[in-house]
Amino acid sequence: MANVILLDRISVMYPNKTVALSGVSLHITPKEFVTIVGESGAGKSTLTKLLIKEELPTSGKIVVGSIDYDTIDKANIPHLRRRIGVVFQDFKLLPNLTVFENVAFALEVSGVKTSEIKRAVPKILQLVGLAEKSANYPAELSGGEAQRVAIARALVRNPKILIADEPTGNLDPKNAWDIIELLIKINRFGTTVVLATHNKEIVNTLKRRVITLSRGRIVKDDKVGKYVL
Ligand code: ADP
Repeated sequence: MANVILLDRISVMYPNKTVALSGVSLHITPKEFVTIVGESGAGKSTLTKLLIKEELPTSGKIVVGSIDYDTIDKANIPHLRRRIGVVFQDFKLLPNLTVFENVAFALEVSGVKTSEIKRAVPKILQLVGLAEKSANYPAELSGGEAQRVAIARALVRNPKILIADEPTGNLDPKNAWDIIELLIKINRFGTTVVLATHNKEIVNTLKRRVITLSRGRIVKDDKVGKYVL
């Protein structure tokens, strides 16, 4: 099926011999909202990096939709990156570009036409509630606003899957909830959301599927989960 995420017996050992993931098998269906929880060092970031092919597994198989990560060739990586949007704790915005330009940049690198960029960027900034900040620079934004720009940048390419690695880690509770509500909205529009977090309150209020990692292994996978560690 299109855009199913499949991990089959994935292990990751870093060059320093740290085993970050061990025998992880996982099946995420399209349009799911999945939270990945676990203490610091449990393997959450490694898992998200695998999905965007920033890390490679030491063993095991990853397939997302029709893309088999073992056989994907260089030419297909941009296709993968379009399909999977990603946001991080530290926003990773380009400081010398405005809000508009940060979002537009994601389209420019994919070779999208200027006319299409001019149409798509304001629309997505509207969706994340930042239309009026279009001409501002990242340094002029609050943490919550910066994260919404990062989400806009991920969404503007219309990904089927959005991966958020501790997106609320640098935010106060009010801004954190705004981001979570935005993720819920995006999920309602039909995008699969994979949210890695160690924020118990968020996970327990969301009442979505919770996958618990501990020392690189899945120790729990609950349909309507609670974060109990
Ligand atoms: P989490 O996101 O849950 O905090 P990580 O996936 O970042 O967990 O880390 C899992 C384990 O792998 C930890 O023991 C961490 O120290 C280790 N680790 C993460 N990245 C690297 C790396 N690039 N090189 C070596 N060890 C790493």
